[in-house]
Amino acid sequence: MNNRVWIFDTTLRDGEQSPGCSMNVPEKLRMAAKLVELGVDILEAGFPIASEGDFQAVDAVSREFPWVQVAALARSMKLDVERAARSLEKAKRPRIHTFLATSDIHLKYKLKKSRQEVLDAAVASVELARSYVDDVEFSAEDGARTDPDYLKQISKAVVAAGARTVNIPDTVGYSTPDEYGELIGRIVKAIGDTAVVSVHCHDDLGLAVANSLAAVRAGARQIECTVNGIGERAGNCSLEEVVMVMKTRHDRYPFTTGIHAEHLFPASQLLSSIISFGPQPNKAIVGRNAFAHEAGIHQDGFLKEPTTYEIINPKSVGVPESRLVLGKHSGRHALKKRCEDLGFDLSHDELDLVYEQMTALADNKKGLMDDEIAAMARRSQQVPQPVGD
Ligand code: MN
Repeated sequence: MNNRVWIFDTTLRDGEQSPGCSMNVPEKLRMAAKLVELGVDILEAGFPIASEGDFQAVDAVSREFPWVQVAALARSMKLDVERAARSLEKAKRPRIHTFLATSDIHLKYKLKKSRQEVLDAAVASVELARSYVDDVEFSAEDGARTDPDYLKQISKAVVAAGARTVNIPDTVGYSTPDEYGELIGRIVKAIGDTAVVSVHCHDDLGLAVANSLAAVRAGARQIECTVNGIGERAGNCSLEEVVMVMKTRHDRYPFTTGIHAEHLFPASQLLSSIISFGPQPNKAIVGRNAFAHEAGIHQDGFLKEPTTYEIINPKSVGVPESRLVLGKHSGRHALKKRCEDLGFDLSHDELDLVYEQMTALADNKKGLMDDEIAAMARRSQQVPQPVGD
């Protein structure tokens, strides 16, 4: 089986529709340029029926990046599909992504439709989308909570109607890796190689990345994800995390993507500057502390050989350098190195003096700035030396 996994980025759609993340058209264009540089395979730029801004964003991204595969979202309804098709008119490789909920809970309470009605609407919307574009994706919303036999039936039906990608979302982030992998395996088996099986996981239980990886192992070949894991509620599968698992643990996950990892950190930074928040400091791969070492034993080992405490070279994901945070847990070795970097060649006694001051001062602080270290080093060298008699 082909081991190339397609990265479908939905930062500008699922990500953008979550609180604090809305982006206007120029902002989406700036982010899209970075996503193209990053090497995403499919760029979902908006949900054109939802707002004029979303329509304009899909249109603008299609014009600005004509060689990129641009996707537009549409409910399985005539007006939605037509609007999506119009927004993609300038795209050279347009994809209409149409969706309809398939779980009994959504059918009963939200749609008030029977399984047969939903199946017919899904097929009709895929056929309509195919009359505009060759590349159509169907998403079975709340797929992870859908009866597997019905999910198989609807997946086969939309593929027969012309869908090239069938997405099985864990819309509410409820599934677990073993359960989700099993479900995806059944769908992959049912549709064979007639279409790509895609996954779209939410992080309500912190399992979006693990679930996506379990699905890929079961035969899915498209992952829908976002930069910094932004998205509805607890967010979507984090692009940087899922890509770096496949790169770092290629022995366990022998899959490849088209992502240029050195753009991961810059992409995260750009997104943070556009929306209203950044990733949490301890976020894997792109958090401020992801490559910071404060504990003395860790700093000492890291300075002797980085691989003692670092499994990823920060440069490989675009982080400027590993950061040793000097705080109360730091040791002499890290302090000496920092003083040297700051231009101070301290004697043993001078270093002891600075070390004492640092641990006393750092007790009340979150970490010391370089200018504070430099001031202490300078003072240590100004202490009058004992004069012999
Ligand atoms: Mn979603």
